[in-house]
Amino acid sequence: MVRPFIAGNWKMNTTVEEAMRLASSLRYFLEGIQEPVVVLCPPFVSLDRVSGVLKGSVLKVGAQDVYFEEKGAFTGEVSTAMLRDLCEYVLLGHSERRFLLGETDELVNQKLHKVMDSGLKPILCVGENLDQRQKGREEQVVRESLLTCLEGLDNCKGLVVAYEPVWAIGTGLAATGEQSEAVLGFIRQLLLQRFGSDSMNVPLLYGGSVTPNNIGEFVSQQSIDGALVGGASLDANQFQSIVRTVAKTNFNA
Ligand code: PEP
Repeated sequence: MVRPFIAGNWKMNTTVEEAMRLASSLRYFLEGIQEPVVVLCPPFVSLDRVSGVLKGSVLKVGAQDVYFEEKGAFTGEVSTAMLRDLCEYVLLGHSERRFLLGETDELVNQKLHKVMDSGLKPILCVGENLDQRQKGREEQVVRESLLTCLEGLDNCKGLVVAYEPVWAIGTGLAATGEQSEAVLGFIRQLLLQRFGSDSMNVPLLYGGSVTPNNIGEFVSQQSIDGALVGGASLDANQFQSIVRTVAKTNFNA
């Protein structure tokens, strides 16, 4: 059975000092919580200090990106070898990287191979934009993106997939439970066809304007195992409230 899962994407927010403070508040608030799996993704420069703050707790650390080369002349980039001692998870293919920085599914695919080979666990983000949603193309877009990102992979060990409709990210306009269930149910079927029964262990997350008020609507859906949270993950009270709602949700119901 898939364990419920909540990840917080801090994006380009928090100084090192602020990141450590946020991580310690969350450690305090969430002490002893066994479910869901909780992953905090601070900026690269805070990974070391945040993993220090969380050492010995149940909270896990993730990076927001990684490069696919092992080392060398790639100014500004960070390798999996550099991350391995600092975190367990890595966000890949976030829509802000795709649309602001030109990241393609092909590049995400190279990163995904590197991450899985290195033993880190990828949280792969896919999702349609508003125009594609309005044209009813969300399943087609998600299918093409997901399958290109997964090209050449022979297993899905450690993989997490987040469906993040671009129009819902940071807009306050979350998808409905029904909309997200439809796409995540579709993703579950694609993964089943692609990897067989092993894919039933892949946590499927919804992401896009998740708050303490709407998280229940998502995690009560059959195909949704948790959420990737942006804005609300920067507020310790809101984030712990989201985590606690998920902890109380009966996923077997
Ligand atoms: C995100 O950054 O992945 C995200 C979902 O952001 P927000 O929750 O702020 O919409």
